[in-house]
Amino acid sequence: MRRLLQGALGSLFPSDHDRRVAFPQDWCFTVNQSQGDTMPSFSTKWFGRGPMTNERMIAEQIEARGVRSPRVLAAMRNVDRALFVPAARQSEAYADAALPTTLGQTISQPYIVGLMTELLDPQPADKVLEIGTGTGYQTAILARLCREVWSIERLPSLADEARSRLERLGYANVHVLCGDGYAGLPGEAPFQRIMVTAAPPEEPETLRAQLAVPGRMVVPLGETEQELIVIQRIGPAEYSRRVSIPVRFVPMVHGTAGPSAT
Ligand code: SAH
Repeated sequence: MRRLLQGALGSLFPSDHDRRVAFPQDWCFTVNQSQGDTMPSFSTKWFGRGPMTNERMIAEQIEARGVRSPRVLAAMRNVDRALFVPAARQSEAYADAALPTTLGQTISQPYIVGLMTELLDPQPADKVLEIGTGTGYQTAILARLCREVWSIERLPSLADEARSRLERLGYANVHVLCGDGYAGLPGEAPFQRIMVTAAPPEEPETLRAQLAVPGRMVVPLGETEQELIVIQRIGPAEYSRRVSIPVRFVPMVHGTAGPSAT
């Protein structure tokens, strides 16, 4: 039954993540909700639990799969994913999947956001560069964990929306810029951490060079086959590389789409 439901969800939500991760026991409640409660055997009563919430999403989809950093979990508890999900998708705000947003882009699966943030391990004094602002969900989580976030989005309307959303929510240590993430932000470098949330085909060397020493970058790498990679800068010309898990992200595209929003 679970396999069946996974298949059904796969066709409902185009996803930017690897589906091989285990699904928590009563994950099907979300499916039930989004399908209008047509399957009595999967009702809330059947599970004896309340509705899906941000808190429950974190416990069941993120913590239960091994993300343990108390700082990361606390930051995620303080950022309600529903505030970043488009109005038309509110019933799926806590779904265990990436969700489509606008212009063919996505908001990442909560588990992948948790895992990437834990792998990045941002520290309170860090200046962080993020590539691929999207809705600003990941940006908000980073902003709670470090001194300053510089986030670059190539689509002007997404950059504008995310900037005003984050301002409205009171994030004062975030700068959202419209630009090509491949160039990074040489004028603001070095960064102790770089988070990339769109997939380049190869290691982005310009970004790597904007890391502080020591510094760390988390990036989904590849085209059809992608892997989450952790790159550490350990000396001026010395880098180490570690593979985490297979993932599926939208591609990192060269150039911006239209006039800069900044
Ligand atoms: N982190 C986002 C999801 C990112 S989806 C969230 O939490 O909502 C990936 C985003 O990367 C898309 O918005 C896409 O437009 C952007 N992107 C792709 N190539 C880019 C580039 N070269 N520079 C900046 N942003 C890019």
